[in-house]
Amino acid sequence: MNTAVFHPPVRTLMGPGPSDVNPRILEAMSRPTIGHLDPVFVGMMDEVKAMLQYAFQTTNNLTFPVSAPGSAGMETCFVNLVEPGDKVIVCQNGVFGGRMKENVIRCGGEAIMVEDEWGKAIDLGKVEQALKDHPDAKVLAFVHAETSTGAQSDAATLCALAREHDCLSIVDTVTSLGGTPVKVDEWGADAVYSGTQKCLSCVPGISPVTFSERAEAAIRNRKTPVQSWFLDLSLVMGYWGPGAKRAYHHTAPINTLYALHEALVILQEEGLENAWARHRRNHEALKAGIEAMGMSFVVDEADRLPQLNAVTIPEGVDDAEVRTRLLNDYDLEIGAGLGALAGKIWRIGLMGFASNARNVLFCLGALDSTLTSLGARIESGAAVEAACKVLDAC
Ligand SMILES: *Cc1c(COP(=O)(O)O)cnc(C)c1O
Repeated sequence: MNTAVFHPPVRTLMGPGPSDVNPRILEAMSRPTIGHLDPVFVGMMDEVKAMLQYAFQTTNNLTFPVSAPGSAGMETCFVNLVEPGDKVIVCQNGVFGGRMKENVIRCGGEAIMVEDEWGKAIDLGKVEQALKDHPDAKVLAFVHAETSTGAQSDAATLCALAREHDCLSIVDTVTSLGGTPVKVDEWGADAVYSGTQKCLSCVPGISPVTFSERAEAAIRNRKTPVQSWFLDLSLVMGYWGPGAKRAYHHTAPINTLYALHEALVILQEEGLENAWARHRRNHEALKAGIEAMGMSFVVDEADRLPQLNAVTIPEGVDDAEVRTRLLNDYDLEIGAGLGALAGKIWRIGLMGFASNARNVLFCLGALDSTLTSLGARIESGAAVEAACKVLDAC
């Protein structure tokens, strides 16, 4: 084995993340590393914060990127807002709601679960009932875009319900940010986290977060210290906080932050509304192709995420065999099902830079030819044409 060089293959990433990274971002990453307290770097940090406010549609001061992946953004929200004994209402309609529950328990809190079937949006009536049944709850936590199923929930109403019942909201927007509307201020959301490697199409490893003034006040009024030293916002803000005076907390992932800066510049150039429309358009084209093959979607049309297409695997088809062939023959990665949906669905991502007409046609063609060669009972040869009709009409 030659361990002197690692040359990854060039793949097309159409799974649940990471998504294809724009070459501009990879180029930005290779720029010279400078110190994490270099005034020039500090200037770039301020630009990243301002561009994140745009991405999140918020004026929250406490908006910055956590130096670790989306899961660390999740943990930042929970460890700072949940103290031992606090009651948290957690909505679960897929994998990531389950992780929220784990976070609450590890913070010493009590998780009140509101569960929905996988593939469905969160039931607003059930959440309202839980808030009524637990007037002492401190936080309502939910996933806006469930990547494990492709379902989107009504974040505006959920955040409003939380406020009505004097609860803070923790919102997972890892898969929605940059792909479908995330409007932190309009929603009145309190603690929101995301990731870089989904619809921002940046390299993995960073988690943008934003906190409302209400959330900041709750953190200031904590009775106990945050049990995580690394994620304790009162310490992190010595480095990421406002003003010119910054103190060492940890060494920021300098070059990964260059990458995030470039990703946010690209998002600004395109404009959020245009990015959302592009994700919608490419989803419509993929959907036409998938349906022309005779396959169906897991999620009801109204709740479907355009950036994460959960498709039911045709009967008699071996999930792993198809994904292996796509990877080996076409350098194409699509996602497997998770948890309750493992072996039953594929998750086709059209996220960020990967959400384009070329990928739609490429994926449909590769899937059509692979399924046909395996003798699957699909309508062969119809997918690409159906997608082209939609793309032409746009
Ligand atoms: C991917 C994802 C996460 C976790 O992000 P990592 O960067 O993998 O840690 C959390 N929530 C949702 C909804 C996700 O899709």
